[in-house]
Amino acid sequence: MLDLIEDRTRFHRVKFWEGEPTPRTWRITIRDGKFTAKIVCPDCKTAATLDPKDHTIQADGSVTPSVVCDCGYHETITLADWSATE
Ligand SMILES: [Zn+2]
Repeated sequence: MLDLIEDRTRFHRVKFWEGEPTPRTWRITIRDGKFTAKIVCPDCKTAATLDPKDHTIQADGSVTPSVVCDCGYHETITLADWSATE
C-alpha cells in the first residue's frame, strides 16, 4: 500500500534529450529566473510548470504546497533527483 501511494506522488526526472515527457515525470525549466519543474500529470497527462510564486521545491525534491490538477489529481509530490539540479 505504501508503494502504491509513493508511486502516485514520486515524479521521475526526464532529460531534454530523452524525448517527450511521459506521465509522472518532470524536467527542469526556468521561470522568472528561478529553476522550477515542468511536470506531467499521472492521471490526465497534462503538462504544467510549477510557478515559483505558488510552489516551493525543497532541496530533497518535495514540493509545497500540494499540486492540484484540473482533472482532480491532488497530491503532495516529490521530484526525484531534484538535488542533482545544477
Ligand atoms: Zn491531471
